[in-house]
Amino acid sequence: MSSRLECAQCGKIYPLDIRLRLCECGYPLLVTHQVEGSAGSELKAVIESRPLGVWRYLELLPKGIGEPVSLGEGGTYLQRAERLGRELGLRNLYLKNETMNPTGSFLDRGSTVEVTMALHSDIKCLECISRGNLAASLAAYAVKAGIPCRVYVLPGAEQAKILQALAYDAELIYASKKHDHAEDGHLVEPYNPFFLDGLKTSTLEILEQLDWNPPDAIFITMGTGSNLTATWKALDEAESFRLIGGDPPRLYGVQASGCAPIVEAFKKGLDKVEPKRGCKMIFPDISEPNPILGSVVLKAIRSSRGSAIMVEENEILESIKLLAKTEGILAEPAAAASIAALKIAVNDGLIDRSERVVCMITGSGLKDPASIRELFKLSYPKHVKISGTKLKILKLLSEKSMYGYELWKALKIAYGLEFKLPTIYQHLSELIRMGLIVSKPPERGLGRRMVRKYHLTESGRRVLAESQ
Ligand SMILES: [Zn+2]
Repeated sequence: MSSRLECAQCGKIYPLDIRLRLCECGYPLLVTHQVEGSAGSELKAVIESRPLGVWRYLELLPKGIGEPVSLGEGGTYLQRAERLGRELGLRNLYLKNETMNPTGSFLDRGSTVEVTMALHSDIKCLECISRGNLAASLAAYAVKAGIPCRVYVLPGAEQAKILQALAYDAELIYASKKHDHAEDGHLVEPYNPFFLDGLKTSTLEILEQLDWNPPDAIFITMGTGSNLTATWKALDEAESFRLIGGDPPRLYGVQASGCAPIVEAFKKGLDKVEPKRGCKMIFPDISEPNPILGSVVLKAIRSSRGSAIMVEENEILESIKLLAKTEGILAEPAAAASIAALKIAVNDGLIDRSERVVCMITGSGLKDPASIRELFKLSYPKHVKISGTKLKILKLLSEKSMYGYELWKALKIAYGLEFKLPTIYQHLSELIRMGLIVSKPPERGLGRRMVRKYHLTESGRRVLAESQ
């Protein structure tokens, strides 16, 4: 079997060379692999005889590149998500947990292939222009290979991820715009042909983990579009190498509403993505104003009969919480966006409830403490503002649990407060929603009527103490 580079747009062929990334027509190059010999069940047997990880799929990676530079990337868990599936109304939901990679992101799959190729091509310095995950991943693999790494940090970069790169001994240069890199270094972009070929192994793993029966749909977040392109490429190769048969999955590409040029082009029916002006960098790792793989991604989504979905910031943050509390996976916003999009797709009827669906969870929430902080501020307000009457209710309930009617009378006796009886129930239901009191199931009270007793919670006790 042999490999070469081919233009994703015009089909022009180039030799395998790490320094090539764009065709003379301006479009990205992809590695293509020729099938000459083992394929189908014979190839499956060879793959399955190797240890888990990116390098298990050697026949589908660039040839002739020597000993891998590896930190044990890939081989991540495909988690059957029964509890999250129940929440979303899906019976067969799976999560590809890429947070398990060495630096906490799916990009490690690309870094291992690119840095291995760089080491064996005598590259003297690795460079990247990044706002986050790519910097951390490349820096770690550069250290392992013993090659210096230079990171151009763009405005809006996520501090925790840049600190991670700094810890891996990268040289940081604060750049104002994208073309600030030096000529002597080898620039690693997520769409570099070898990098992208490494990314594709997450999809090969998904197929293998599902016994080579492709799922019905895959949800993937998009910045430059490299992960969706890699998925599309993996599915295409798995079919040509006769690893899978039947209908390929529908691909759903996901972007955040502040910067969603690919989704906008999809909705307008365009073949090319127009560069987006004034992009909001709320989630830098999926915010790319000018995605170079845009036209490839649009083709991939359309030919798979999938769709492009835009999600709002608050939907992303809520999805982080939902994923963590149902499946025990803490994702960063750029990763949880795929769950937010799945929710929309189910509600819009794009996904059938019995279909087999995979969401790629591309990066760990530990990399983005700021979003986690934001999330907790949404759910657990630090200062609960409550009115005088509610405070008096809490005070009375701190002395003893009471029925609504009993409480209404007690407010009159203790504080001289007089209002119509239904008002007390309005106050009580608001206090329940605030988590400050709870009501126990009804029991028989005086006069043989069924009544509900109200009790103060720990939060209620705390709020009361703080207000005194
Ligand atoms: Zn071309």
